[in-house]
Amino acid sequence: MEATEGGPVQLSRRAETFTESVIRDMTRLALQYGAVNLSQGFPDFAAPDLIKEAAIAAIRKDINQYAITWGNKSLREVLAAKFKSYNGVAIDPETDITVCCGATEAMIAALLAVTNPGDEIIVFEPFYENYGPDGILCDASVRYVTLHPPDWSFDSDELKSAFSSKTKAIIVNTPHNPAGKVFSEKELKLIAELCQKYDSLAITDEIYEHILYDGAKHMSMASLPGMRDRTITISGISKTYALTGWRVGWCIAEKKITNSIRKVHDFLTVGAPAPLQEGAVAGLKLGNEYYQQLAQDYLERRDFLWNALEKAGFGLYEKPQGAYYIIADISQFGYSNDVEFAKYLVKDVGIAVVPGSSFYSRPELGSQQVRFAFCKKMATLEAAAQKLKALC
Ligand code: GLN
Repeated sequence: MEATEGGPVQLSRRAETFTESVIRDMTRLALQYGAVNLSQGFPDFAAPDLIKEAAIAAIRKDINQYAITWGNKSLREVLAAKFKSYNGVAIDPETDITVCCGATEAMIAALLAVTNPGDEIIVFEPFYENYGPDGILCDASVRYVTLHPPDWSFDSDELKSAFSSKTKAIIVNTPHNPAGKVFSEKELKLIAELCQKYDSLAITDEIYEHILYDGAKHMSMASLPGMRDRTITISGISKTYALTGWRVGWCIAEKKITNSIRKVHDFLTVGAPAPLQEGAVAGLKLGNEYYQQLAQDYLERRDFLWNALEKAGFGLYEKPQGAYYIIADISQFGYSNDVEFAKYLVKDVGIAVVPGSSFYSRPELGSQQVRFAFCKKMATLEAAAQKLKALC
């Protein structure tokens, strides 16, 4: 439509192609119907006091102005120490880190910093819903490679054929939202080999790096031979410390890439909240005991919800090895698709979930799946289990 005086102005074609976030929409429906919200992946329990106190102290000390655009020095220093001890990679806190407003900003800043219009990026599906719109924001085309249930493995030939000279980057999310897959060393090595063959980057979303079950080990792509300088590692405090609303995340990459990310980040947001970065420092100093307890608590939640879903008649794939979601198969309930089932579940049963199709480029792949988030208090999960009995 042409813009006329007083008439409608043509708005961004980019924004027009975005659909509303299905995940956040389900949270709204949960509130509307007073349902137990197992849709959006945010914890409904408290963050550690020590972290909150550190942020409060920082505010009182008047750390209230812009942070250094790429992050408070104190945070970059603990991050570098932790990246060495946990992820196995030595980095320079002065040149290799950009602190961003959550892993979400980190991902788009990274993509904008490395892609040119027309480049291709590879994304495994099911995927976390932001990656598609991120591709649109940077005018890159997205090639999807399917993760197949029950174990969410991919076909190595399909992956190989997705790579080409146009591939700028592959996004690897491990542990994986929504599938709970933890990529194995063998899988990561194949991806690494292809990145090197096609001179592509790996952009890894490792936000669930501490939420692991049944002995699963987190491996960072950057720690593999030849990958340190072609990997952008993204993580943040949201999931590890139950602080999704603070919006503190980061990108770790070699100096030249970081330089480009820092410029994009600076113009996008200037910086992440300065006092909250000081809170994050306290979190990152907590150490192994905290991470072990975190994983233990999540294991209990996973097993509780798993059993409740099994009893209610959902089809289940392999148990998640990491992250805090379960994808369940709904074919037993006889609904034509996942959206219809999710509506029924939120209105009539009183549980909000995310329809599976929102995690796929081809919605039909998720049309008999829904995602449950179990980053919730046991009391919340117990309330959900009670409601699930209506399905039995
Ligand atoms: N990562 C969380 C999820 O997958 C929150 C995402 C969001 O709000 N879009 O549910």
